[in-house]
Amino acid sequence: MSTSAAQKMAPSTQSYNTLQDANFAGKRTLLRLDLNVPMENGHVSDTTRLERVLPTLKALIAQNAKIVILSHFGRPKGIDTNLSLQPIAKALSKLLGTNVAFAPDCIGDVAQQAIEKLQNGDVLMLENTRFYAQEEANETQFVSQLATLGDIYINDAFSCAHRAHASTEGLAHLLPSYVGLSMQAELEALAKALLNPQRPLAAIVGGAKISTKLDLLANLMEKVDILMIGGGMANTFLAAQGVDVGKSLCEHDLVSVAKETLKKAKLTGCEIVLPVDAMVAMKFEQNAPHQVVDIHDVPSDHMILDIGPKSVEVIAQKLKNCRTLVWNGPFGAFEIKPFNYGTNAVGQAAAQLVKNGSLIAIAGGGDTVSAINQAGVADDMTYLSTAGGAFLEWLEGKTLPGVAALQRKA
Ligand code: AMP
Repeated sequence: MSTSAAQKMAPSTQSYNTLQDANFAGKRTLLRLDLNVPMENGHVSDTTRLERVLPTLKALIAQNAKIVILSHFGRPKGIDTNLSLQPIAKALSKLLGTNVAFAPDCIGDVAQQAIEKLQNGDVLMLENTRFYAQEEANETQFVSQLATLGDIYINDAFSCAHRAHASTEGLAHLLPSYVGLSMQAELEALAKALLNPQRPLAAIVGGAKISTKLDLLANLMEKVDILMIGGGMANTFLAAQGVDVGKSLCEHDLVSVAKETLKKAKLTGCEIVLPVDAMVAMKFEQNAPHQVVDIHDVPSDHMILDIGPKSVEVIAQKLKNCRTLVWNGPFGAFEIKPFNYGTNAVGQAAAQLVKNGSLIAIAGGGDTVSAINQAGVADDMTYLSTAGGAFLEWLEGKTLPGVAALQRKA
């Protein structure tokens, strides 16, 4: 990778102001969080996302800031009381052990008056920013209206950083800007993964289709030493090598692209590892009768739903020689047993290496979090990113507008 390419995607936190770089006492601090938490019957059913932002909130409370939380929730078309942030303010109060006040608007007099009432160390949440279409349009006037509410802007919503919206990007141009602690942790983990990795560096890319991961593959191929491909997308690569994949999910129209990708990998010196055996079945369903076959012996009426034990062994051996692993996507149809076997086995092998101290494993994006949770190794990954689209776009080598805008101005 050229130095300029590295700098372009550099997520090093050295180029951003962090919470250690300012005194927030008495300052109206606009704090962008991602409060898109799962709800059931009006209550937060999974608090993981809220827990991740507690350190930033606690640090700001300890610094006596006047904290004003901004977030979107869902995809409202105008004001939609079903997508109010009020229940989330309640859930956050409980977790934080401090009252989180709520204002039913994110701009104008209502927001202004609520902020005026804040004492040092108080926390206020403003209503869903997406109740205004101007949020997603990053409209200048709306950004200015938000900016009048604060003295300082902190972004702690890495998962929204691939969107150039008013509260994720626009504000950073108008107010002194800082990265929050969870965003800082994410940027540091990503830097370890691709920017300054310990080598050999491996990537696992699995999941359903290559059509959604072409940019990802192209970027990773230039940076990693070994690229291990699994899941449905491996089938297209196998077909490109002349393997008959039977009734497997396979994007036949992309076989030529897969061939091209394999050629490029040779040129960039990236080793591609594909499954050598597979778990096959005639039906895509839980506990479907299945068998393990050599990859060259897939029956024409069967489909590949997971990798087999020989593939797991090959991957585990390769990982033993690696120092860093970046992982996106499952090896098989992990939601239906027993086709979670490969993902679980590789997850456990990687976890063991992390525990031994020989591997840094960074995983995330899409279904990967639930696949790794299911494998029971979430706590053993060096870093598990819950950022979804932002994590993927970063792996694709794209500039994330929400991160770029925070970069320290010269
Ligand atoms: P993605 O969102 O692209 O990471 O894809 C994840 C999905 O890929 C999961 O729902 C898996 O069930 C699916 N998947 C993985 N391997 C296969 C396979 N061999 N055949 C069909 N679907 C698969």
